[in-house]
Amino acid sequence: MISEEFKELGLSDRTLEALAAKGFETPSPIQRLTIPVMLENRNDIIAQAQTGTGKTAAFGLPIVELLVPEKKTVQALILAPTRELAIQVNDEIQSFRKGDLRVTPIYGGAAMNEQLRRLKAGVDVVVGTPGRILDHLRRGTLDLSGLKWLVLDEADEMLNMGFIDDVDEILGYAPEERRIFLFSATMPDRIAGLSKKYMHDVEVLKVENKQVTTDLTDQIYFEVRESDKFDALTRIIDVENDFYGIIFCRTKVAVDQLVNNLLERGYAAEGLHGDVSQAQREKILRKFKKKQANILVATDVAARGIDVSNLTHVINYSLPQDPESYVHRIGRTGRAGNEGTAITFISPSEHRQFVAMQRQVKADIRKETLPTGHDIVEM
Ligand code: ADP
Ligand code: MG
Repeated sequence: MISEEFKELGLSDRTLEALAAKGFETPSPIQRLTIPVMLENRNDIIAQAQTGTGKTAAFGLPIVELLVPEKKTVQALILAPTRELAIQVNDEIQSFRKGDLRVTPIYGGAAMNEQLRRLKAGVDVVVGTPGRILDHLRRGTLDLSGLKWLVLDEADEMLNMGFIDDVDEILGYAPEERRIFLFSATMPDRIAGLSKKYMHDVEVLKVENKQVTTDLTDQIYFEVRESDKFDALTRIIDVENDFYGIIFCRTKVAVDQLVNNLLERGYAAEGLHGDVSQAQREKILRKFKKKQANILVATDVAARGIDVSNLTHVINYSLPQDPESYVHRIGRTGRAGNEGTAITFISPSEHRQFVAMQRQVKADIRKETLPTGHDIVEM
């Protein structure tokens, strides 16, 4: 069914049909704000809305709408902080306009040859991570001379991950006559600096929310001794009928250890961290998305931006480093209207840090007691 609300934003029938096929029924608040303004194509834009609110479509829809595919020079470049995000954004953009639009992901860790071949064949939209994009620009294998739109997606994450200099340099390759669209969940001061330097005539579009974290996520915490965390985790998984979640650990070693322990006990778990090869990561993510494994154990960086929309749980096996990580971690659940539970384990030594963090994220994190063996038997 074609959505009247999307139609009112000024999208063409072709795009409306693609949205109907995807099952998008109504635009999200940030999409309502950005789509009409971007379709006018007169300003640079800074858009801010919390994670999981459809920012990809908020910039992707107007771009596929405005673009006339020629498969000659790159007309739109979208920068994303991680490979997984680049792949996700790539797929989503492609789904908005099937057939004539050529979109390609360009990220590190993947074979250069294939990327060179595709660039040479001609693409309309490139979605990439800053490092590899810069690599191509310096080699002269990516031509941005015809660039019309440059999107900085998850700009706060890109800053957090230290990509500011790369982004700065990439912006230098873009012609004067281009629009810049900056999308972010939060707006640290350094983003203002970047925008002052490169953006003209900026329109700021922002979806306000009282809480930093989403209301759809029920947030609870358990006090558990370090040595009891594994038992606590398996109990939580066991009492849930259809557990489908991401468990966050701080280090690669902790991820591997937890995956091994879970596998030993017969759980279908997979691990994701910086040492996992690109091919392997993609395989694992596919498996997780198909629920062939219902437990994904990951470090913060590895799980950034992963968009799996129907997770039942996010579990902080250890406390996140900082409040921002907490927000990003739990932003993996409560997405696209689905409810989820975020559970944080707090050992006595983490208590102080937890109290401070809770104050900063302004979230109401309830204390609960662990399900007992008795609860499990009763289920
Ligand atoms: P963000 O970038 O703000 O974190 P995403 O763009 O990743 O959010 O979108 C989160 C999820 O919501 C994705 O699975 C996306 O396909 C879905 N989504 C986006 N817009 C809509 C919509 N209007 N209706 C239904 N689902 C949507
Ligand atoms: Mg996003």
